Amino acid sequence: TTASDYVESLLASYPDFPQPGILFRDLNPVFADAAAFRSIVDEIIDHYRGQFDAVAGIEARGFLLAAALGYAADVPVLAVRKGGKLPGTVLTEEYDLEYGSARLELEVGQLPAGSRVLVLDDVLATGGTVAATNRLVERAGYRLAGVAVVVELSDLQGREHIGDAPIHAILSL
Ligand code: 5GP
Repeated sequence: TTASDYVESLLASYPDFPQPGILFRDLNPVFADAAAFRSIVDEIIDHYRGQFDAVAGIEARGFLLAAALGYAADVPVLAVRKGGKLPGTVLTEEYDLEYGSARLELEVGQLPAGSRVLVLDDVLATGGTVAATNRLVERAGYRLAGVAVVVELSDLQGREHIGDAPIHAILSL
């Protein structure tokens, strides 16, 4: 069974959540299946093998992927947090969401300058969240190794909004 097969068979879809008109994809059943989760982590590591020195997970479900990848690939883990949660010197990016707007932050000085960072999230929708994270990674003095997501919602054309960063989606819908 490939990672893509696992995701396709396990993900749940909820019309009109959290707002009318949104078809919400719930990946919790995917994360709750040990073989499925392992296959996703392994596929991302294989895809970007030799191309990253660290991973950055986007709050909150990106954290789950980043923790697993950091451990499995033996690389540092960065947490990209929602606005207002980090102390110290932080970089901030504001961006528009599919529903509403938001702010993401990254603490500076955690990795050597020029580190190649792989950005991780569960779903690529409009791409605003990943684009903001990519800007944080670059503003912090790192290089963007690429982006990996479990599900890409192609209708929303997120790829168009993240420039020329390499992106790998386990499943495109
Ligand atoms: P964006 O539109 O910026 O690509 O997505 C916004 C954020 O909401 C991302 O962190 C993305 O993972 C999450 N998101 C957007 N749509 C969905 C969805 O249908 N399901 C899940 N689980 N997350 C979503």
